[in-house]
Amino acid sequence: MAAKRDYYQVLGIDRKASNAEIKKAFRKLAFQCHPDHNRDDGAEARFKELNEAYQVLCDPDKRSAYDRFGHAGIDGFSSRGFEGFGFNGVGSIFEDFYDFFSGVAGNARQRQRRGSDLHYEITITFEEAALGCEKDVKINRIERCAECHGSGSKPGSQPSKCPTCNGSGQISHVQQSLFGRFTNVTACSHCLGEGEVITNPCNKCRGTGREKKKQSITIEIPAGIDDNNEIRLSGQGNIGEKGGPSGDLYAAIKVISHKLFYREGNDVLYELPIDFAQAALGTEVEIPTLYGKEKIKIPAGSQTGKTFQLKGKGIPYLRSNGRGNQLVRLRLVTPQKLNKEQRKLFEKLAESFTSQNK
Ligand SMILES: [Zn+2]
Ligand SMILES: [Zn+2]
Repeated sequence: MAAKRDYYQVLGIDRKASNAEIKKAFRKLAFQCHPDHNRDDGAEARFKELNEAYQVLCDPDKRSAYDRFGHAGIDGFSSRGFEGFGFNGVGSIFEDFYDFFSGVAGNARQRQRRGSDLHYEITITFEEAALGCEKDVKINRIERCAECHGSGSKPGSQPSKCPTCNGSGQISHVQQSLFGRFTNVTACSHCLGEGEVITNPCNKCRGTGREKKKQSITIEIPAGIDDNNEIRLSGQGNIGEKGGPSGDLYAAIKVISHKLFYREGNDVLYELPIDFAQAALGTEVEIPTLYGKEKIKIPAGSQTGKTFQLKGKGIPYLRSNGRGNQLVRLRLVTPQKLNKEQRKLFEKLAESFTSQNK
């Protein structure tokens, strides 16, 4: 028989490791060499070795005996009538294990897990947000494997009855203790409680029944959507495990700001620059709206900041009928450069204002 390895070395931990550290190290390594995750030769032996090391080091009495006397100290334990690891043995180790993998272990129904959600960002223009649009989005999604239709088995082959639990998905451990025999029932560690195992895995998905695919999907974006709104497409996320339902797809909307328009609730703000003469004399101007050009009348004597309302020319309400308004705000622009003639006219005008104010 090969010499036993040092338990601390087996778990890859320091001799001063705390109970929590021991537990953590065990779980990590047990997952790696669990016979169901790792089909390598020797994985099973390694799993047993880990269990043994863990059982000794997580028990304070056994650990101190091991620290003082090495493996001989532990052998001494069993010969003193503890029946190997007796009470705290295999049963609790498996419970620990399955506790950790809850959702993975257990029965087949528990193994069906909803797929995860997908998150994407879609950038659209101001007009697209206001009026609604359709966007084609390329996504990476986990879908049912096309080769095996999600079964995980090579086409034409079937999963076979688990040889470890004979198809029941459960394992009974009969144990001897100081208090007599008792039976401990746990989920089968080979098939993880399913009762069957894939013996001939599908080449494409390696038995998982799922594969990652690039997809192009069309997302309908409703009129009136705003920056940072999110659209949820139910069931368009990743497919679940073992036939579990698909997750959802969330599309976060980003709206590019507009050169002329500014959104305030469902109203569209628009600033109209006009010159001094237009404001003083009044005029009619054509302005842009989301729905085409509109003419508005600027009455004589209009001040900067004066606001006109174009009813119903704003952004549609997302959850009800109707639309907001467009608000047109005047901004008087003082000329920065005057030609000779304009300068003369302004001077004349200035004289005229001065004499008027006397
Ligand atoms: Zn497949
Ligand atoms: Zn089994």
